[in-house]
Amino acid sequence: LPPLPNNSPVGRLADGTFSRYAGVARFEQLPISKNIKKALISNKFVSMTDIQRASLPHALCGRDVLGAAKTGSGKTLAFIIPVLEKLYRERWGPEDGVGSIIISPTWELADQIFAVLKAIGCIHRLSAGLLIGGRQDVAIEKEHVNKLNVLICTPGRLLQHMDETPNFDCSKMKVLVLDEADCILDSGFKKVINAIISQLPKRRQTMLFSATQTKSVQDLARLSLKDPEYISVHEES
Ligand code: ADP
Ligand code: MG
Repeated sequence: LPPLPNNSPVGRLADGTFSRYAGVARFEQLPISKNIKKALISNKFVSMTDIQRASLPHALCGRDVLGAAKTGSGKTLAFIIPVLEKLYRERWGPEDGVGSIIISPTWELADQIFAVLKAIGCIHRLSAGLLIGGRQDVAIEKEHVNKLNVLICTPGRLLQHMDETPNFDCSKMKVLVLDEADCILDSGFKKVINAIISQLPKRRQTMLFSATQTKSVQDLARLSLKDPEYISVHEES
């Protein structure tokens, strides 16, 4: 993997100070719970990738993040770890309802995120589920949706639940993630995403991850992120 550029924002916090976790290289050095560290080790995740190294110190202290890095660079753990750590610190449990929403452009990608979430979050008492349309029955989803703490969704299906499912309550959610934000916004989901975001609490952490920072991603960042950390990890050319 390529080294971080010299002007990398790693470790710069909102007040201009540097995080003590700036530039740390291994997951075990991060301020995360023992359970997550154990799960990372048992899945053989030891050293962070560049995007993880650049974004996790910020994401773990609750900041909004706009992260861009190419496919295969490890963006999934860059948001799964902060989601799990936040809910763990808040002692979130099944009875607390929706704590985090992760939006993915396709059900195949949602499936992959779910697999990573299960691998890393298995020791926590959090519940997670997929709301992805397609091959899944919406009626069955409706029965379970209120018991889930982490929702991994495609945009259309999430909005359908917001509109149709009685008692579907996102008013306490803490962390919103848009994965492949460039794909989501460029495939005509802009209106759906805006409708979803308008129904979420304003006080929350938001993370956008994408392979490229398109204009749509920057527009959404302007509208929905608070003083975000812009992190871009590119290959040396
Ligand atoms: P992206 O979302 O950026 O395309 P993924 O999150 O899908 O990338 O990760 C790509 C691959 O890299 C996966 O197989 C994942 O298990 C692996 N991976 C991610 N982070 C690490 C890491 N810190 N160490 C080793 N492998 C990793
Ligand atoms: Mg990905």
